[in-house]
Amino acid sequence: MISYPIDENVRMVKCSSALSQSGLPEFDYALNPYIGCGHGCLYCYAPDIIRHQRGADWGTWVEAKSNISRILRKEVRRLERGTIGLSSVTDPYQPLEERLCLTRSCLEVLRGADFPLIVMTKSALVERDFDILKEFEEVKIWVTISTSNEKLAGLIEPHAANPAQRLQLLKDAEREGFETTAMISPAMVCSEKPDSELMDLVDKISDTGCSNVFIDSLRLRSTAETRIRKFNDLKRGEDDFDIAALFEKSSIFRPGGLGALLSRRYPDIRIELFGR
Ligand code: SF4
Repeated sequence: MISYPIDENVRMVKCSSALSQSGLPEFDYALNPYIGCGHGCLYCYAPDIIRHQRGADWGTWVEAKSNISRILRKEVRRLERGTIGLSSVTDPYQPLEERLCLTRSCLEVLRGADFPLIVMTKSALVERDFDILKEFEEVKIWVTISTSNEKLAGLIEPHAANPAQRLQLLKDAEREGFETTAMISPAMVCSEKPDSELMDLVDKISDTGCSNVFIDSLRLRSTAETRIRKFNDLKRGEDDFDIAALFEKSSIFRPGGLGALLSRRYPDIRIELFGR
């Protein structure tokens, strides 16, 4: 890769491939226009996957693959048709995308290529690209909401859209005719009644018209544990939340026992539970 700086925290880099084989069952290829993610979620596992060794804290730097759409155009001509996940180790609609439009440039390539697409994001910026996404034969939009607690979300997902904006995004995407999925992943709980807290979030999701909900438990990778400890040391005593204790509580919370109850309560929603 050749790289050159455009400002202190963003580097434009050249990539030699755009699509990578996916290790996830839901899609065949992963498309990541960026390395790093400005949303800076405390629990993010991406640094462990990409083996981030850049020194700076996760969420404070991004590398943008400036030539990705040109490489993608060549690849979709020769690769077998398969479902593309956009993205697996970054958010394709993180703040930098508003300025660089790399994700949009990839969609412009893909719209005529007949590859099914799953867009995964925590940002309402995806609405900017609804015009292109509507031209796809098969497209799904997955929106991650780990908690409906605005304050908690602001601490653990500091630069992502807040939970109310993500619920609105689900509603907007449904209204525009997209198939949507709400990913409660990881399921973060902060009250004394975690089951009710989760039900309350699914209630809010059901109000958006979304008909698929995936729920996954929190499983922290090693770099996330380090970030949480560091964050906790910095913030101790500054706010009502003891972040380390909340992560501890969430990591032992197992939503699997709620499966039958959720299915009865939301017969029109496909609910899938992982990490029982
Ligand atoms: S939005 Fe996704 S990729 Fe970005 S920091 Fe959060 S969890 Fe990681």
